[in-house]
Amino acid sequence: MAEREELTWELFGSASRELAQRIADDGYEPDVILSIARGGLFVAGALGYALDVKNLHVMNVEFYTGVGERLEMPVMLPPVPNAVDLTGAKVLVADDVADTGGTLKLVRDFCAGHVADVRCAVVYEKPWSEVKCEYVWRRTDRWINFAWSRERPVVRHEGQVLDA
Ligand code: 5GP
Repeated sequence: MAEREELTWELFGSASRELAQRIADDGYEPDVILSIARGGLFVAGALGYALDVKNLHVMNVEFYTGVGERLEMPVMLPPVPNAVDLTGAKVLVADDVADTGGTLKLVRDFCAGHVADVRCAVVYEKPWSEVKCEYVWRRTDRWINFAWSRERPVVRHEGQVLDA
């Protein structure tokens, strides 16, 4: 078995569509999609189009500094979304992966108390995640290479593409 899970752009296309289908089949109609930057931006955009939700918000959370290298705890970076915008809303939190689940727990706790309902949608969930997401495309215990971050930088200043 390969050491890493590879999510190519092509696979992401079908993964995000299948994830959206699961949410639709469950009858969940979010008012707001709350995207966790940066990886969650791709997922939130794809789900927003697939579910026809135009109201997207962004939260910046910093946790990982490298492969398996983390800060002590996830931190919210400014600007933090205005809680008033989320009050009474049915929120769908979108991220690329729930690993420890620490990031999603932080965001869930931030939403708790303001919103009518909060559910999480991720492309991948690891078995040890402390948050069990309502909507998961695939489960894995391996490190995932995402199309958007497997090589950094993807493009050099001179325009030389390092990774398609
Ligand atoms: P958590 O808070 O659940 O431990 O991790 C959340 C964030 O860490 C993810 O949104 C992602 O940016 C990063 N992360 C965690 N596991 C992986 C992984 O297997 N591959 C990549 N590329 N990023 C990961």
